[in-house]
Amino acid sequence: MTTNLASISSPTRATSVVPAPEPDRIDLIGKDMAEFGTIAENLGMPSWRGKQLWGWVYHHRETDFSQMTNLSKDLRNVLDETCVVSRPDVASRHISIDGTVKWLIKFADGNLAETVLIPEADRLTLCISSQVGCTLNCKFCHTGTQKLVRNLTAAEIVGQLMVARDYVASGAPGSEHAHFTAPENGETPDPHRVSNIVMMGMGEPLYNFDNVKKALDIATHNEGVAISKRRVTVSTAGVVPMMERCGTEIGVKLAVSLHAVTDELRDVIVPINRKYPISELLTACRNYPDVRNSRRITFEYILLKGVNDSLADARELVRLIKGIPSKINLIPFNPWPGAPYERSSDKVIEAFAQIVRDAGYPSPVRRPRGEDILAACGQLKSASERQRKSK
Ligand code: SF4
Repeated sequence: MTTNLASISSPTRATSVVPAPEPDRIDLIGKDMAEFGTIAENLGMPSWRGKQLWGWVYHHRETDFSQMTNLSKDLRNVLDETCVVSRPDVASRHISIDGTVKWLIKFADGNLAETVLIPEADRLTLCISSQVGCTLNCKFCHTGTQKLVRNLTAAEIVGQLMVARDYVASGAPGSEHAHFTAPENGETPDPHRVSNIVMMGMGEPLYNFDNVKKALDIATHNEGVAISKRRVTVSTAGVVPMMERCGTEIGVKLAVSLHAVTDELRDVIVPINRKYPISELLTACRNYPDVRNSRRITFEYILLKGVNDSLADARELVRLIKGIPSKINLIPFNPWPGAPYERSSDKVIEAFAQIVRDAGYPSPVRRPRGEDILAACGQLKSASERQRKSK
């Protein structure tokens, strides 16, 4: 299948309503609570004013200081002269027939990254990028074909979340596909709110640890965006030395891109395995801080036809993860033009899933989302760059 941007139905080209920050102004997005206090003090206000400002910026998503009505008019004027609440530009936005929304986000230096909103029955999940490109070259991943350009800053990571929150709060198309029939833990879900975050977009989040940590601390602060840590997942290809810090310092759930049950194969399809082989990876999973049934490790396993999808592979997978509180997401491969693999048949996928389920592990088959909008990680960015070069 050859697809390019021209064939995508109804992409919406949009630009941010808020201008990029002027260099002499402080951009409040990406600043943490302590920095808000310092900024308030530096502007001659008591530091508790920083907390009020925080609520406006992150909880209310307000970008216009004149609307921050519990601040004095003088203060609002000072803020307007010295600060800005920015959003990254949106190079394009695409809405799938299945409700998935994908943004191609353009940062101030022109670099692009992707953000994907995935409506499901009981949640509205945002998949956020942590880097522009990636160093890890996983063979099934389109982002792995793009060279690493740079880490995203905390502001750029939070900026992706704010773009999606603005969109969802506006009741725009996409959010109505979530029906919220099965709320977790008695919470009342809000269809106009991003409920879950997965750091599973472009890049390896544990190679950009400090910025990811800061961004997720902001996203989970209960007086701001207030997404529960139980609803945040960091996905790693297997950066073993950073996994413990992810659990203790960020305190969120962990997903591991496993995808193979032998080092021989994983060395090829997830090359970081040559550095941190399966046995070390699984030991780090067993030792993940606070791992238990309610904070299970999610193993991602992408099914590649004739490569890793046999019944023997399924049995070996069950043997390897024995004793680790875990769930296995089975992902049918989402091919792109020129991809080296094919998708396994539904029959093969179901037989694989049954073995894993019979062993007692939840094993949902994650149907590809947004195929009509190039929602597989990295595809939209590449298509956009190809289109630009062909002009
Ligand atoms: S799967 Fe993740 S870590 Fe691997 S190449 Fe793609 S973006 Fe990088």
